[in-house]
Amino acid sequence: MKFSDLKLSDPILRSLQDQNYKEPTPIQTDVIPAILNKSDVMAAAQTGTGKTAAFVLPILSILSNPKNNYKGHQLRALIVTPTRELAAQVRESVNTYSKYLSIRSTAVYGGARIHNQQLKLRKGVDVLVATPGRLLDLYNQKSVNFKNIEMFVLDEADQMLDMGFIHDIKKIANLLPERRQNLMFTATFSNSFRSLAREMADKAIEISVTSDGETGENIEHYVHPVDKSRKAELLIELIETKKWDQALVFTRTKHGADRLQKQLDKVSIKSKAIHGNKTQNNRMKALDDFKNNRIKILVATDVAARGIDIKKMSQVINFDVPTVAKDYIHRIGRTGRGGDKGTAISLVSADEFRLLRDIEKLLNQKLERIEIDGFEPEHLIPTKEKPQKKNFHNKAGFRNRKGNRKG
Ligand code: AMP
Repeated sequence: MKFSDLKLSDPILRSLQDQNYKEPTPIQTDVIPAILNKSDVMAAAQTGTGKTAAFVLPILSILSNPKNNYKGHQLRALIVTPTRELAAQVRESVNTYSKYLSIRSTAVYGGARIHNQQLKLRKGVDVLVATPGRLLDLYNQKSVNFKNIEMFVLDEADQMLDMGFIHDIKKIANLLPERRQNLMFTATFSNSFRSLAREMADKAIEISVTSDGETGENIEHYVHPVDKSRKAELLIELIETKKWDQALVFTRTKHGADRLQKQLDKVSIKSKAIHGNKTQNNRMKALDDFKNNRIKILVATDVAARGIDIKKMSQVINFDVPTVAKDYIHRIGRTGRGGDKGTAISLVSADEFRLLRDIEKLLNQKLERIEIDGFEPEHLIPTKEKPQKKNFHNKAGFRNRKGNRKG
């Protein structure tokens, strides 16, 4: 399949040539014709599959088609995303693909001055990318008008539900014209997503390029068992010996991200942390520094990193095991993009065994445990599916550094 088979307009095809995209990805092959056909769509696709272009390209094609009543810079497509970073990134994609069109777009999100966003909206935009809270603020201040909206996209819908945006989403949907096209993208078809999708568009075409628990084939992932207290030391050792160009490192908490970043700083490894307590500017700057290779390590919490697209990320590290198994798939989906090989390493301490087991259940796969010389844990990760609680908590399964069993 070629892009030119997809009935996209010439200016759009030219922008794709500029990007050097050779052919549509599977999600694009399925989703683009459905959207051009004006169907409602619900699609399950992870970040990294080309899902953004899968909705942005046909939206631009529809908006710019003179047959479709083009009036110029009236808001006709609304894309809602869970995080600020994702909003900015989706807007960047809209810009890239509309390079040869006279389509105007902007992104609005919290943490940035509302006044500037109001000015941009006043000038008129065709496509608006927004996070839910800021969008509703702007609506309440009468800075945005929904009456011409024809297309409504929910990007990373399951993440929005996880983040508690359900009421905001429903509120927004109720403010939009009833006759509209609904396009819903999610990493997984969770039950809560399905029930929202049914409410919004019960005849939506269902498209899925992944099944729950599936990870990319070109991602190699394994576990380094290590004691909790030695994780930072091991990470530094890995960074130094493996000679990675860059790595994206996930921590569970904001505090953990800051602490790790300081530890890396102490040994002169250039790094930055992104999480919810950082200002929007700070987060954007860190991301930009990472994308442009000015820092080696980006330490991130799940929410801050969700949906961000970093090209050619070959290395993802789970410094902490995520508490929600699904997040493991999101995290490691950062690597192995566009057919490149990627590695995802989890540093797992004994107390995280249950979380690891949940992930392995979801993946339906046992992750290989590789101990690193000098970092063999005193507190072993149980290897059995269901460890006996007694063995796990008493010292029977412990081992000292030399590998001799204690207790
Ligand atoms: P996404 O899944 O939307 O986050 O996209 C992941 C990455 O794939 C982005 O960097 C896109 O620029 C890139 N991409 C999207 N479509 C294609 C394509 N057809 N061929 C190559 N790269 C693509």
